[in-house]
Amino acid sequence: TAVDTYSFSHLHPQHKAEPSHETLEHALSTSKEAGLPDIAVSPSQGKYLKLQAQLVRAKNILEVGTLGGYSTIWLASSGPDVKVLSIEVDQHHAEVARRNIAHAGYENRVEVRLGAGVDVLREVVEEVRAGKREKFDLVFIDADKENNWNYVDAAAGISNKGAAIIVDNVVRKGRVANPDSGDSRIEGTRRVIENIGTDDRLDGVVLQTVGEKDYDGFLLSIVK
Ligand code: SAM
Repeated sequence: TAVDTYSFSHLHPQHKAEPSHETLEHALSTSKEAGLPDIAVSPSQGKYLKLQAQLVRAKNILEVGTLGGYSTIWLASSGPDVKVLSIEVDQHHAEVARRNIAHAGYENRVEVRLGAGVDVLREVVEEVRAGKREKFDLVFIDADKENNWNYVDAAAGISNKGAAIIVDNVVRKGRVANPDSGDSRIEGTRRVIENIGTDDRLDGVVLQTVGEKDYDGFLLSIVK
C-alpha cells in the first residue's frame, strides 16, 4: 500500500491529473456515503486501465460492473472522444455512478445501462449486429465472477481485432490455483482462464498484483 501511495502520488500529480484527484475522491466518498461496498479498483489499477485504453487507442469501451463509477471515470478519461458503455445490475449503484460520472463531466459520452450483464450484453450484441453501435476496443469485466466466461465470450464477438479484454480479481489471494475451492467465484474465474487458453479468437495472460487491494490480479486478453 505504501508503494501504491508513493508511486501514484508521483505518477498522477495534482497539477496535471486527469481525472483530477478531487473527481476521484468525490466518486469514492459519495459511494461510501451511499452505502456502496469498498470494492472499486485502486487508483493505480484505475490508472492502468486508462493507460491500457490509450495503448489500444480505444474509441469504444465496454464495462461490466459499474458500482459507483470509479473505474468508469478512469476509462472515460482515456481520451476526449472515448465512449463508455457500463452495465450495472443494481439500480442504486447505477444512480450513484451516474451522479459521479456527471460530476466528472463525462455524462455525454458515458452510458450506464441498468440490467444483468448477460441480458444487457445480448442487447448490445444485437445493436452491434444491426450496425447501431460500433465494436469495442477495450472491455473491462468486474461483476459477478460466475459469468466471467459468458462476458468474455460475448465481448470477443463484438470487439475489434486487437481489442483488450481485461477481467478483474482473477487471483484472489492465490485461491485461483485451487481446483477444489468450492467457491463459485473461483470456479467462474478458472473457467475463463481455461476457456481463453483453448479459444482461437483470443490470447491471454494473468498478471498478479499486490497493494492496497491485497493480493489479486488482472487477466489481460487480446482479440486476435
Ligand atoms: N468496476 C467497479 C470499480 O472498479 O469501480 C467495481 C465493480 S464491483 C467489484 C462489481 C459490481 O458488479 C457491483 O456494483 C455489482 O452490483 C455489479 N454486478 C454484480 N452482478 C452483476 C450482474 N449480473 N450484471 C451486472 N452487474 C453486476
